Amino acid sequence: MAVSLENNTPHQVVIIGGGFGGLYAAKALAKASVNVTLIDKRNFHLFQPLLYQVATGTLSPSDISAPLRSVFSKSKNTKVLLGEVNDIDPKTQQVILGDEVVPYDTLIVATGANHSYFGKDNWEKVAPGLKTVEDAIEMRRRIFGAFEAAEKETDPEKRRAWLSFVIVGGGPTGVELAGAIAELAYKTLKEDFRSIDTSETKILLLQGGPRILPHMAPELSASAAVSLQTLGVELHTHTRVTNIEGDIVTFKQDNEFTEIASKTILWAAGVQGSPMGKVLAETTGVERDYSGRVIVEPDLSIEGYDNIFVIGDLANFSHQDAKPLPGVAPVAKQQGEYVGKLIQRRLQGKTLPQFHYNDVGSLAMIGQNLAVVDLSLIKLTGFLAWAFWLLVHIYFLIEFDTKLLVVFQWAWNYITRNRRSRLITGREAFVEAKSINNSSTYQTPEKKQPVKL
Ligand SMILES: Cc1cc2nc3c(=O)[nH]c(=O)nc-3n(C[C@H](O)[C@H](O)[C@H](O)COP(=O)(O)OP(=O)(O)OC[C@H]3O[C@@H](n4cnc5c(N)ncnc54)[C@H](O)[C@@H]3O)c2cc1C
Repeated sequence: MAVSLENNTPHQVVIIGGGFGGLYAAKALAKASVNVTLIDKRNFHLFQPLLYQVATGTLSPSDISAPLRSVFSKSKNTKVLLGEVNDIDPKTQQVILGDEVVPYDTLIVATGANHSYFGKDNWEKVAPGLKTVEDAIEMRRRIFGAFEAAEKETDPEKRRAWLSFVIVGGGPTGVELAGAIAELAYKTLKEDFRSIDTSETKILLLQGGPRILPHMAPELSASAAVSLQTLGVELHTHTRVTNIEGDIVTFKQDNEFTEIASKTILWAAGVQGSPMGKVLAETTGVERDYSGRVIVEPDLSIEGYDNIFVIGDLANFSHQDAKPLPGVAPVAKQQGEYVGKLIQRRLQGKTLPQFHYNDVGSLAMIGQNLAVVDLSLIKLTGFLAWAFWLLVHIYFLIEFDTKLLVVFQWAWNYITRNRRSRLITGREAFVEAKSINNSSTYQTPEKKQPVKL
């Protein structure tokens, strides 16, 4: 199946997903002589790396979102459609959104990934993950709601449960959440309550493997661990959560089981390919890996269909190293740009060498003046890494949406530790001492006799 202009109508490129992959594919095609239809179930692009700052009250959702229509308002060949794609017909070359169909000559699937609870989907209600704006607002409700409930609670054991935060997963999201909650509890909120001392807050970060930030150099993981511990975070490596029931988290570390009563359990442990991967597997027969990612060819197309591309977090690209490329924004961005360029080359009867990821390094924020940056040859920690992290994010936020003022206001608030977005909102915004986890199974620590932490 070759991509070609078979009649006089312009070549139709349909992109599903306006995240990093889809957005940069559409940008790469903005001046090409093709028609682009960008479909997303949300009307905005979301800068996910800063979601944890919405969850912890530094930023508001609009600071990290850009309406897709405004991003492409000047790209006359690009049409934005709001809708959720639920099926694809590769034979008739159509994508299906409810009752509507959209025909394509070339299809780019960039629908990203979702949380994975490793088969324990019932944990999701008690231990929410962080992927969408709604997730971040829910986490923010739980975090700030927990301090409010603790302020009203008179029973010391229950108060301890409100002031105990358990974060599952020691990758960048878990580390950034743990650091931000520690700064909140031990610095920002210190003067704000009368009945509780927020510095009594307990923050546990549980990591299955031997070190946090396992994708970084070991010395940076070690530095991040020391920084978190200095901030007051309890770090448990080699630790697996074995049960979450109501407000009780059970975890296993070195063959010893421990229980802790916590009203705020946050999930940052696993991801799986979005449901479009399953749709593609069923309609094209393409293979998926253990986490539901679609196995792609060296040019990011799928086997047997050189006019269907899968990019970003949904793609398993294993043609560069022994292991698949990581699910990070620069991979999705570069893959989007590559496919945009490849489509134009093919229409000119030319080709491109296979996709090659240019690793730009990785970084993680721990707290004020504390970050780690791994640029392969250059490794930074402490203040230098923190300043670098800030500059990189200012650069990306400006590139992503020219809201210069917001960006500088954010940077200023960040430097001054001001959390201007501490709103407790959502359908269950009013916090009742028993209900923040929607759990009716709360048992006091006396009944469960957990190991005291
Ligand atoms: C909390 C968090 C922190 C992160 N931190 C970092 C970081 O510090 N550095 C880094 O490099 N990466 C980070 N990442 C990873 C990075 O955000 C992803 O790798 C990147 O967003 C992947 O881009 P994507 O285009 O594949 O998917 P996404 O950006 O997830 O976009 C997918 C899009 O598809 C849309 N969609 C999904 N299904 C459908 C459908 N059926 N129909 C229509 N639209 C659909 C969604 O609405 C979404 O807009 C983080 C991710 C998270 C969740």
